[in-house]
Amino acid sequence: MKKKDLEFFKELLENQLQELLSQADDTVSGMTIPKENFPDPTDRASLEADRNFMLRIRDREHKLIKKIKLALERIENGTFGICETCGEEISIERLKARPVTTQCIECKMKEEALEKALGI
Ligand SMILES: [Zn+2]
Repeated sequence: MKKKDLEFFKELLENQLQELLSQADDTVSGMTIPKENFPDPTDRASLEADRNFMLRIRDREHKLIKKIKLALERIENGTFGICETCGEEISIERLKARPVTTQCIECKMKEEALEKALGI
C-alpha cells in the first residue's frame, strides 16, 4: 500500500478512536447516577434497562476501540491492508468502508458462508 494511503487510514482511524474514547467517557459518567435519586420502582426498572443498554453499547465500543488499536498497530508494522487469511491486498474501497477489517471481501464472504452453514 502507498504511504499516502497509509497516512490517510492512520488519520481516519485515529479520528475514529478519539471520537469513540470521548463517547466512552460520556457513557461512563452517564452510569454514575445514584439509584437513590429514583425511589419510584418504575423509574428504577427503566434505569436498570438503560443501564443494560449502556453496558451493551459500551461493550460494542470497547470491541471497536480494540479493533481500531489493532488496525493502527498493523499500519505501524506494515501489515495493514493485507488479508490475514489469504495474504492478498484488501481493496482500498473495502478499507475505506471498514478500515478495521482484516480480511479481503472474498475471504470474508467465504467465512460468513461457512458460519451460516455451520449455524454459528
Ligand atoms: Zn483474503
